[in-house]
Amino acid sequence: MSKVRSYAAHDAQSALVPFEIERRDPGPHDVRIEISYAGICHTDLHQTRNHWGGAQYPMVPGHEIVGRVLEVGRQVEKLDVGDIAGVGCMVDSCRECSACSEDLEQCCEHGATWTYNSKERHSERMTYGGYSEQIVVDDRFVVKVPESLDIKAVAPLFCAGITTYSPLRRFRVGKGQRVGVIGLGGLGHMGIKFAKALGAEVTMITTSIEKGKDAQRLGADEVLLSTDGSSLAKAARSFDFLLDTIPVGHDLNPYVKLLKRDRTLVLVGALTALEPPLLGGMLMDGRKSITGSSIGGMAETQEMIDFCAEHQIVSDVEMLPIQNVNEAYARLLTNDVRYRFVIDMASLKAA
Ligand code: NAP
Ligand code: ZN
Ligand code: ZN
Repeated sequence: MSKVRSYAAHDAQSALVPFEIERRDPGPHDVRIEISYAGICHTDLHQTRNHWGGAQYPMVPGHEIVGRVLEVGRQVEKLDVGDIAGVGCMVDSCRECSACSEDLEQCCEHGATWTYNSKERHSERMTYGGYSEQIVVDDRFVVKVPESLDIKAVAPLFCAGITTYSPLRRFRVGKGQRVGVIGLGGLGHMGIKFAKALGAEVTMITTSIEKGKDAQRLGADEVLLSTDGSSLAKAARSFDFLLDTIPVGHDLNPYVKLLKRDRTLVLVGALTALEPPLLGGMLMDGRKSITGSSIGGMAETQEMIDFCAEHQIVSDVEMLPIQNVNEAYARLLTNDVRYRFVIDMASLKAA
């Protein structure tokens, strides 16, 4: 075991503060990573504040992790010391169920082991996430990052990136399709970049007029203000695919109206109840579908990173020292993010 510095939440209300944790010594399949950068996902806020229940404290959040490999176990083949490596939301799964066998570890029937606020599969120890100096992870759950990408802006790809890439691929989004991305934060801005790179015509659907000014830079062809009822009405039945990243329960009815016949809206944001109720007629009229998606499997995560290298896609980031993490959480709550906060872990040494 080795002691490393981190930042932790100790309950659902108080600020995150410096905290010392232990990391296991690497086993034959493990990779020890010195964390350079960690993205702040809205899930970190939900989890530390116990919005979904089940929070266990102390909790070290962070599941958008990138850094350099410090040490590899003797059976690790895909990474060497010095490589850039990334870790996302999962660090283990059963590897035997039908989901794991089909490279869908995120849907493991025995429950994936999450990067934090989860129990290790073979011990009673809790997992601790990326707001820390180092992490030790089984190599199946570590992704090799091409050197050509800007490492500062790579961390968010391991959650915001894969969560948006996976459903766009599953529904074969591409040329000739009109795609809408709802909610322009960490997930949403990655959704726009991927949909554009896949050849679709992309609309950002936002509550923030100001963010609309970034449309071109992000790759969006159009902006639709979701607070403007008449613009929404004009856009009825015009979208082939919608990706909904709104982090809280909300009214789905106006968005379903935007879909063409036989098309799909994929929910990736809200885990909690969606209110007011969805009218059944919304789905029947036009035979529309709503489905959900959770991150992506490890093979697809490697595919996504390689796609990013090929298309030079990274996240738009605002860097901050770990000491500012609590302010960043407060800003997430007011949609004040352009478009992902990333912690420079070098700042932890001064904590
Ligand atoms: P984020 O950076 O905070 O962005 C969310 C955006 O949604 C906001 O910037 C805002 O965009 C819009 N929004 C927020 N509240 C809204 C409201 N009440 N009504 C309408 N729009 C609203 O969050 P994120 O990190 O992208 O995460 C989004 C959600 O996805 C979170 O709930 C997170 O837990 C979840 N998540 C799910 C997965 C998965 O595997 N399914 C993975 C990662 C995260 P505008 O300013 O453009 O309106
Ligand atoms: Zn996340
Ligand atoms: Zn499994």
